[in-house]
Amino acid sequence: MKKLEQLHSGKAKTVFRTDDPGKLIMEFRDSLSAFDGKKLSSASNKGYLNARISVKLFELLEQKGIPTHYDSMLTDIDMVVDNVEIILIEVIVRNIAAGSIVKKYPFETGQQLDPPVIVFDYKSDEYGDPMINDDIALALGLATKDELSRIRELALAINSVLVEYLGERNLLLPDFKLEFGRFNGGIILADEISCDTCRFWDKITGESLDKDVFRFDRGDPVAAYREVAKRVVPEIFG
Ligand code: UDP
Repeated sequence: MKKLEQLHSGKAKTVFRTDDPGKLIMEFRDSLSAFDGKKLSSASNKGYLNARISVKLFELLEQKGIPTHYDSMLTDIDMVVDNVEIILIEVIVRNIAAGSIVKKYPFETGQQLDPPVIVFDYKSDEYGDPMINDDIALALGLATKDELSRIRELALAINSVLVEYLGERNLLLPDFKLEFGRFNGGIILADEISCDTCRFWDKITGESLDKDVFRFDRGDPVAAYREVAKRVVPEIFG
């Protein structure tokens, strides 16, 4: 497969066309960004660690019957994925209160959310990713009613698989962000599942092993990402 021209460059990944119209390449870069791009940095190997963590979790989800866009790795950081039509909704799943939900509502950091809370944000840099509800998603034409209920169903199923797998590896999953795409008449999981898009806490110490290390200057983000990789992908990093 050939990597052709760049189609889109986001904060941490760049998407390329390939010689197969049904496939794209998602390159995981070493760049780190937080607070809507106000804090920027770069960390050697971050892209590789996030790519391998994503691959492992996509493969696990596929085994459990959840369709994803993952195809294969072309290089250490170039992931071949299905060319989906991305739905402009960021789906946030929360199991434990942390981050923005604690700032906006009277939750305590660390408080269990049972059942899990699913929030939809409109994926738009121009509008600052505002929280939306089903009615706004429908009125904006972002997705149909059936698609929204399928997305919710998939998000909960993904959450169950991830909480169990990570729990066995001494990791808590307070929250994470998913993106979905339309493909072959259905909805499949797209984007990534990595230390950039999930909160991972050590089960025993509660230590953050994710992008919060970078956001709040809590140490070396790459050391935290490597610790997650060690537990999630032991066959490579253990
Ligand atoms: N998240 C993300 N991209 C976004 C917004 C959030 O990957 O544009 C992830 C974030 O890493 C966290 C979860 O979604 O795991 C919930 O984020 P939150 O709303 O608490 O915002 P934050 O505290 O990250 O500003």
